[in-house]
Amino acid sequence: MKTSEFIEIEEKFGAHNYHPLDVVITGGKGVWVTDVEGNKYLDFLSSYSALNQGHVHPKILKALVDQAKKITLTSRAFRNDQLPFFYKELAEMTGYEMSLPMNSGAEAVETALKLARKWGYQVKGIKRHQAEIIVADGNFHGRTISIVSFSSEPHYKDDFGPFTPGFISVPYGDVKAVEKAITKNTAAVMLEPIQGEGGVLIPPAGYLAEVKKICEAHNVLFMADEIQTGLGRTGKLFASMHDGVRPDVTIIGKALGGGFYPVSAVLADKAILGLFTPGEHGSTFGGNPLGAAVARAAMQVIREEKLVENAAAMGEYFMSELRKIKSAHIKEIRGKGLLIGVELIPEAKGARRFCEALKDKGILAKETHDNVIRFAPPLVIDKKTIDWALPRIKEVLMMA
Ligand SMILES: *Cc1c(COP(=O)(O)O)cnc(C)c1O
Repeated sequence: MKTSEFIEIEEKFGAHNYHPLDVVITGGKGVWVTDVEGNKYLDFLSSYSALNQGHVHPKILKALVDQAKKITLTSRAFRNDQLPFFYKELAEMTGYEMSLPMNSGAEAVETALKLARKWGYQVKGIKRHQAEIIVADGNFHGRTISIVSFSSEPHYKDDFGPFTPGFISVPYGDVKAVEKAITKNTAAVMLEPIQGEGGVLIPPAGYLAEVKKICEAHNVLFMADEIQTGLGRTGKLFASMHDGVRPDVTIIGKALGGGFYPVSAVLADKAILGLFTPGEHGSTFGGNPLGAAVARAAMQVIREEKLVENAAAMGEYFMSELRKIKSAHIKEIRGKGLLIGVELIPEAKGARRFCEALKDKGILAKETHDNVIRFAPPLVIDKKTIDWALPRIKEVLMMA
């Protein structure tokens, strides 16, 4: 079957809530994928950073298959023999005392919002149903109704109201705006350390540290959404660490499932996460033994293959080489580790056509917003592969 035939079926029977590049992938290994026509591509998106360990990592595959043969789902009505080790190893890796496992990133964000509200009422003493949570303009935290309620992107929310109240959005990167927005009802501030979907926007150095300090001064929780930036992507285990910050609550997902299986989690110490009592929150699939086994292997690969260190080294090399490309289309190149955005000037007529051209040269990247090309390969990428990609990227960025 040809590419166009796959696309025709998909377009006919599937909802059109994405605008994918016209490449139909059938296989993958490490940083490479192949399409149904036998073409090979370098994956420079990594499924929005869910594939930090690369495609079909053999160790994670083995954990998945081994566990799938034993037991896959127990529900949390019963205990299973994988979840305790998931908790313990996640605590050892991240330094947080506890975690709460969910499936998708949006679910973990919702969990953190519920946790912040509960903390606001139970610990801070906010009057019931009055809690406020401060977020940043340009945020991306997922697609549920409560989450799009505080999106500033018309496209994400326009036809989906009525919205959940209790959120205040302030300009990203502006410490004073956060401080001004805090009231006696503020339970939490929730931020992405780098706004990935927003266009790989990096706040001024010290922003997170100052927001954290303000939160402490006003008895407000500081929550970081590290679903995209976490688990090594930016060259540290968590992007908050670039600012020396340990958030009260950290939300992770994506690469926690190693690209095999949706696993997300909310991380916090016992004084906060210990507030949930039986029945207040849950998920049929959250914490299931298959997901727990996969996540354990995904964490092990991050550790054993030193993916955090590799992201730092390769990111620095890739970015310095990108900066040598002198194209009139480029407005700015920015990033940390292997989360890199190339912003084009508006006159370049959109990032999409550059992504299409990259595809024709064997590189899969995706535009974010209209004018930013995001480069975020799996963290297992090596120098040789980057050197393969660079002349191709240069050629595309130099086109008319
Ligand atoms: C992807 C993402 C989410 C949502 O995760 P899903 O698994 O798609 O629900 C939330 N926050 C950030 C920062 C993300 O990048």
